[in-house]
Amino acid sequence: MTMTEHDYDVVVLGSGIAGQSAATSAAQAGLKVALLEKTGKLGGSSAMSGGFFAFSGTEEQAAEGVKDSADLFLQDLLSTGGGVNDRALLDAYLNRQDETYQWLKDQGAKFRSLEISSGQSAPRSHNTVITELLANLHRTFTDNGGETLLGHRAIRLVRSNEGHVTGVVVESEGTESLFTARAGVILATGGFSRSTELLRTFAPEQLAAIPYGGAGNTGDGLKMAWKLGAGVADMSYITATYGSHPETGEEFHELLTAYYMGAIIVNKDGRRFVDESKSYKTLGREVLKQPEGLGFEIFDAKVRAKSHPGIPLNDIGMIEDLGHLFKADTLKELAEAAGIDAAGLGATVARYNASVAGRGGDEVGRTHLCNGVGDLQPLDEGPFYAYPAKPLMTTTYCGLTINPRAEVLDVDGDVICGLYAAGELTGGFHGAAYMTGTSLGKGAVFGRIAAEHAAAKLASGVAQ
Ligand SMILES: Cc1cc2nc3c(=O)[nH]c(=O)nc-3n(C[C@H](O)[C@H](O)[C@H](O)COP(=O)(O)OP(=O)(O)OC[C@H]3O[C@@H](n4cnc5c(N)ncnc54)[C@H](O)[C@@H]3O)c2cc1C
Repeated sequence: MTMTEHDYDVVVLGSGIAGQSAATSAAQAGLKVALLEKTGKLGGSSAMSGGFFAFSGTEEQAAEGVKDSADLFLQDLLSTGGGVNDRALLDAYLNRQDETYQWLKDQGAKFRSLEISSGQSAPRSHNTVITELLANLHRTFTDNGGETLLGHRAIRLVRSNEGHVTGVVVESEGTESLFTARAGVILATGGFSRSTELLRTFAPEQLAAIPYGGAGNTGDGLKMAWKLGAGVADMSYITATYGSHPETGEEFHELLTAYYMGAIIVNKDGRRFVDESKSYKTLGREVLKQPEGLGFEIFDAKVRAKSHPGIPLNDIGMIEDLGHLFKADTLKELAEAAGIDAAGLGATVARYNASVAGRGGDEVGRTHLCNGVGDLQPLDEGPFYAYPAKPLMTTTYCGLTINPRAEVLDVDGDVICGLYAAGELTGGFHGAAYMTGTSLGKGAVFGRIAAEHAAAKLASGVAQ
């Protein structure tokens, strides 16, 4: 029996920030585009995210007098990523960040606050209401003739005799059909935080983290590309993000980074075990090694006063309202309420305060609040607070090798013609750890690049 065939210029798989940036850009370029999403709703992990985009040299930074540059951004990306990042991808991001930032603003993105967060040495996380932005992108896509199909799961890439990817087989309601793509297929199917099978293969210790991320993020795009010989990068760096309450549930994003405001992190023995200024992915790896995979963010009234109401990761009041914060007038009472060894906590805070006052070095080597920036303050003003938190398996940040044109490369580094990838399923960009805002950022940047390259190929008549 022959399959029903649907013909398009570009077929985009996955409707998160990467897929929607690619699909909308391709539709704006006049291409006939299908956006296929396997679940019943648009957005994937992107719609669940904190909405931070990392850009440098922006109007928001200028308005707040923040000194930042593409060079400093690059240095931070390399130091956070342990220097194993793919430089060509970083350069592509930095070269395209201004244009992408402006395009997102043209789509109605409102960057309502600017924060310093994981891996940054200048406030670079621009916060949006991400669901609004995704809705705007989708409206532009539809207005430009784009077609969206929910409940359509891509299952197999199709190649010509010459080895060019010419389409994809898609399953919907038990029926398979073929979507042909004259200019190429763009994979934007996200990571595999929801695949026990792939986590067991690449990072079994991370199965102890709280499962999270988009329900459809099971690595489908990776597996489809692997069948064609695609290469991979960064697979050994998968880590969960620290710190979410142990009861964090499916649909609600609860994550507090009070450590970048001055909290320390202790285990149940009241002992510190990691430099709290590091990337929250690095913290996640270390917290998983502690008893019960649990770390407590410990802070005082001065840190509590730095809460940013309504801003993810920084809203201490919201966590308190949820009843997830322990509070007490003394450290001893706090430890007893939270189930931490009281003598251990008391001694740890005393050592920390002494080192902040210049008496002895910090026992875990911490010198600043976040990535080399911000002065440490003693924890000496009650009331005191403890937030029990575990690592959250939000994202995998590794996968397909791509070049700066977002073309997928095979294991030998050769282009797989007609196959593009953007977003969380690509590897090489982050390297060993992740800087806040660079995943939504790279989804938008490389989604647009993939669309433009496909459009240019079609215009020059070299499409398959
Ligand atoms: C709680 C949380 C907070 C975060 N906060 C931030 C932040 O503030 N800033 C930041 O930069 N990053 C953040 N991240 C990470 C970031 O949100 C993701 O890495 C990014 O959104 C991934 O975008 P994507 O488009 O690649 O994939 P997704 O947004 O996950 O979209 C992939 C889509 O593909 C679909 N799909 C999968 N398989 C198929 C198939 N076979 N056929 C068709 N469709 C398929 C999925 O159902 C999904 O809808 C956060 C993540 C989480 C979970």
